[in-house]
Amino acid sequence: MDLESLDRLREVQRISSKISLYQSEIAKREKKLEIALADYQLLRDQMAPIEARLGQGQSIARKLELDSKEAEAKIEKNRKQLDQATQATEFTGLKEQLARFEQEKAAIEDSLILVMEKIEELRSQESDLNKHIAETEEQLEEIRAEVTENTKDYRNEVESLQKPLEHAREVADDELLETFDRLFPSLGATVVVSLDGNACGGCHLSVSSQVGEKVQAGISVVNCPSCSRFLG
Ligand SMILES: [Zn+2]
Repeated sequence: MDLESLDRLREVQRISSKISLYQSEIAKREKKLEIALADYQLLRDQMAPIEARLGQGQSIARKLELDSKEAEAKIEKNRKQLDQATQATEFTGLKEQLARFEQEKAAIEDSLILVMEKIEELRSQESDLNKHIAETEEQLEEIRAEVTENTKDYRNEVESLQKPLEHAREVADDELLETFDRLFPSLGATVVVSLDGNACGGCHLSVSSQVGEKVQAGISVVNCPSCSRFLG
């Protein structure tokens, strides 16, 4: 290993740093889309409870309609019995029963009106929300198009750097690459640094004169004893 292998590693560092810079620019712009998508999802989530309540309302309405028909049938039967009643006591009894049935039917119909009003209200909420969702969907598509446009150049750059990176990695020393790949995610463009006087250009801690001399001599690859960065 020599200075040239360090230069080859510097090339890997240069290209990798560019790629991660472009990727962070892409991520920054995509954040806007992520936020818009989350807002859109929150809006869509509001639909389920409305639909659930609508379903409940409709099933209550159906039950009340059946109850109302039943009450109507009882009333009709009662009226027929009343027509045929011959005795005063029977007549009075049937009259009272009829009044009760009619009261029952009126109460059912009142409930039905309330339920129908509630259904109407829920339908209106459903329709408003659908409109809001459709508008938000349109805005979302605009943001998506905008983000795609704004990140296009960066994505092309990243794409065009893949081959050079591949090549740079192919010619770099495997052992150095292994250390580089371990350090790069946290250190970024400062895995390979120069000595700054007698201090490491990355962590700024002083190195021994022995290490400094080794770096100056440039015949072997030297790592900072404190942070493991490559010194050269
Ligand atoms: Zn260091």
